[in-house]
Amino acid sequence: MSAATRRAQYLEALGIDCWVPRAGAQRAHEPLPQAPQAPPVPAGPAPPGALSREAAIDADAPAWERLREEVRACTRCALHETRTQAVIGVGNPHAEWMVIGEAPGAEEDRRGEPFVGRAGQLLDAMLRALGLSRETNVYIANILKSRPPGNRDPRPEEVAACLPYLHRQIALVRPRLLLAVGRIAAQNLLQTDAPLGRLRGQVHRFGERNVPLVVTYHPAYLLRSPADKRKAWEDLKFARSVFARTANPEANDGHRP
Ligand code: SF4
Repeated sequence: MSAATRRAQYLEALGIDCWVPRAGAQRAHEPLPQAPQAPPVPAGPAPPGALSREAAIDADAPAWERLREEVRACTRCALHETRTQAVIGVGNPHAEWMVIGEAPGAEEDRRGEPFVGRAGQLLDAMLRALGLSRETNVYIANILKSRPPGNRDPRPEEVAACLPYLHRQIALVRPRLLLAVGRIAAQNLLQTDAPLGRLRGQVHRFGERNVPLVVTYHPAYLLRSPADKRKAWEDLKFARSVFARTANPEANDGHRP
């Protein structure tokens, strides 16, 4: 499959219209029409004195292992009684992009990995349209590590019990950008009850490092409401521009251009 075909499929999954000629109208040697595509996400400059990525991974390995062991054995809230397994996270442990969702669903609970199944496939398509993937340059985690029964919303006491794990993950990954997908993730990370619509389209800041945080829709919501995929694509392009500006903070005005 050519890169152009793959790109067109990702954008189609996002609901971005790509003009495709009728069968027979295009010769085999003609390229596919250009679909809108963000250029690949550039790697950011390493801070002065920073460890190389490989050295940082080695240095953090014991802390990651401690975290995994604690989460696997965690009984801090009642969700441990009903989960199949804790779902900690997946991806590059020193990625510059970190995606944060709500909680494991049934499939994630069974497989032990966040964002699998149809919503996960859509998230992967969204990320690939930006040149990102969980196999190489993104880390993905949830607010809760154990599945709420029936996929109900997390309860405040569950979030309070589990959020310190996510804070430790963010401290270890040291991302340059956080992408909160869905209302639950956004509201809990930003400590607000503002609706998702008001949180999109602006740069929030998270934690002591003031990590830029951008909000978009949860892919499970987009599966139910495909008309909003185009808005999600706008959010992703915005996130990419915010990420690019983290290398030049003075150019960042904090709002969608
Ligand atoms: S949801 Fe979090 S706090 Fe609750 S049992 Fe699972 S890992 Fe522990």
